Amino acid sequence: VLGCFLQTVQAAKPDDVALAWRPTSPFRDELRDLGVAGLIRDDAEATALVSTDFGNVTVAAPAAVLYPSCPADIAALLLASCARSSPFPVSARGRGHSARGQAAAPNGVVVNMPSLGRLGGSSTASRLSVSVEGQCIDAGGEQLWVDVLRTALAHGLTPRSWTDYLHLTVGGTLSNAGISGQAFRYGPQISNVQELDVITGLGEMVTCSKERHSDLFDAVLGGLGQFGVITRARIQLVPAPTRARWVRLLYTSAAALTGDQERLIDVERGDALSGLMDYVEGTVLADKGLIGSWRSPSPSSSFFGSEPDVAARVAKLAEEAGGVLYCLEGALYYGGAAGGEPDVEKRLETLMRELRYERGFAFVHDVSYMGFLDRVRDGELRLRAAGQWDVPHPWLNLFLPRSRVLDFAAGVFHGIFRRGTTGAMGPVLVYPMNRNRWDSNTSAVFPEEEEVFYTVGILRSAVSDGDLGRLEEQNNDILRFCEEAGIPCVQYLSYYADQAGWEKKHFGPAKWARFVERKRKYDPKAILSRGQRIFTSPL
Ligand code: FAD
Repeated sequence: VLGCFLQTVQAAKPDDVALAWRPTSPFRDELRDLGVAGLIRDDAEATALVSTDFGNVTVAAPAAVLYPSCPADIAALLLASCARSSPFPVSARGRGHSARGQAAAPNGVVVNMPSLGRLGGSSTASRLSVSVEGQCIDAGGEQLWVDVLRTALAHGLTPRSWTDYLHLTVGGTLSNAGISGQAFRYGPQISNVQELDVITGLGEMVTCSKERHSDLFDAVLGGLGQFGVITRARIQLVPAPTRARWVRLLYTSAAALTGDQERLIDVERGDALSGLMDYVEGTVLADKGLIGSWRSPSPSSSFFGSEPDVAARVAKLAEEAGGVLYCLEGALYYGGAAGGEPDVEKRLETLMRELRYERGFAFVHDVSYMGFLDRVRDGELRLRAAGQWDVPHPWLNLFLPRSRVLDFAAGVFHGIFRRGTTGAMGPVLVYPMNRNRWDSNTSAVFPEEEEVFYTVGILRSAVSDGDLGRLEEQNNDILRFCEEAGIPCVQYLSYYADQAGWEKKHFGPAKWARFVERKRKYDPKAILSRGQRIFTSPL
C-alpha cells in the first residue's frame, strides 16, 4: 500500500486532483496507519463532484472520496471500515452514470474508480491487456468499454456483447448486466466474463471464476455492487468485423414490429430470418421520440435521413397510425472476420423482402464497426454543447415476459404516452432477448417464465421546467398500470425506495433469500454500495 502511495505522489501532475489530507476527517486515525490517508479528500469540492449522478435527480454527499492508486488501497479502506464498531459505507463509483444515486455512499467514502487507471504510475494501457492466443482481454474495473473496444480492435478482436453507450465502466455495467442489441445472441455482458478480481466487503482480494470461488463470481455479476469491488474482469473476445450496415425500418404496429424482432432473434429454431442481423433493437416514436435525441446518427441528418420531404412523410405516417410509430433498429456486420460485401448485400435483400415494415420507410447507413458501436457518443457531444446532457434523467427500465408485450404497448405507448404528452425528449427502446443466454446463478433478476423476454427503456430527459415532475408521474402511472394489468415486470437499473421494495417487487422470496445469504457471506456489515438502498444495517 505504501508503495502504491509513494508512486502516486511521484506520478501526480499539477492538474491532478489535490490529494492533501484534511485534518477534519473523522477517518484520519484509522486510515493513516493503513497508508491511504493521503489518497483521500473530504473537502466540499471533492464530495460535491460525487454527490449526484447522470440521473441528476438525487443528491447524497459522502464524507470523503478515495482516489485509489491500486486495488490494495481499496482493500485497505474496506478493512478500516470493517474494523470499526460502526462501519462507514463505501461505494465504488465508475463514472456515476447511474440514474438514482446507486453509486453514492451517504456519509461514507466514495471510491473514485477512474483513479486506478491514472494514479500510482499505472496508465490506462497497463490496465488493459489482450491475450490473442486466449481470445480475451483483462480490463481494470474502472476502464471504459470504449477503451476496451479500441484495445481489442488493435489486435483484430472484439468483445461480443455491448451496451448502447460505451463510456460506461466495466465494473459498473457488470454490476447490472450490460445489455444491448447483441444480447439476444450472446447474452448480456455478464454472460461473457471469464474471471474477476474482486475485493469483498471484508477487504479480501479474491480471484474468482466459474471454476474458482464460483459463488462469489456469480454473486458479483449483476450484484449491484453489494458483494465486492471489481478491480479486473477477463472478457471473452472474438475476431472483429470492420463495418456495419445500420438499418432503421418503420412500422405502424407493435404486433408487426415484435413479430419481426422475434423472428430475427430466434437463433435456436432456425427461422428464415434468424441470425441475419447481428444487432436487433427497436424504438417507439410517440411524442418527440427519437427525433433530435442522442441516438440520431448525425447533426446534419435527422433520424430518418436527409431527404427534404422525409420528415413530412413520417409525420403523415404517424398521423395515419394514430400518433405512434415503431422502428426496428438493426445492424449487419461485415468485413474483417465477418463476411464480405456481397454477403451483407444478400442478407439485406432477404431482410427487406421478408420484414413487415412500411414500404418506403427503410433507412440504411454504412458505417465502421467502431462508429456503429460508439454511435451514442456523437449525440452526447451534441447534447453537451446544447446544455442538454446534464439535465435530470428520470429513466425507467423494465423487463417483461414476451406474452405481455402487446398489452404493455396498448396500455403504455398508445395509452399513457398519448394522454400525457410531455414534450420531453429521449428514446423509448423496446427489444427482445433470449432467456437461455442469461445465467440464473448470477445476481441479475430477469423474467424466467418464458423463453423470450423484452426490455423497455424509457430514457427521457427533463429539459424544460415541469418535465421532471410530469415524467416521474408518468413512470408511476406505468408501474401502476403493470400492477393492475397483472403484467409481471421487473426493473432493470432498478430503483426502490427501501428494502421491502427490493425484497417483494424485485427479487421475490427465493432470489431474495439467496441475495441475503450472499450478502451475509461477502459483506456482512453492509458496507458496500448503500446508495442502492438494499441494505442499510449489518446483517
Ligand atoms: P456507476 O453508476 O458509477 O455505478 C453503478 C453501480 O455499480 C453502483 O452501485 C456502484 O457502486 C457499482 N459499481 C461501480 N463500479 C463498480 C466496480 N468496479 N465494482 C463493483 N461495483 C461497482 N446500461 C445497459 O445495460 N445498456 C445500455 O445500453 C445502457 N446505455 C446507457 C446509456 C447512457 C447514456 C447511460 C448514462 C447509461 C446507460 N446504461 C446502459 C446504464 C449503465 O449500465 C449504468 O449506468 C451502469 O451503472 C454503468 O455506469 P458507471 O460505469 O458509471 O457505474
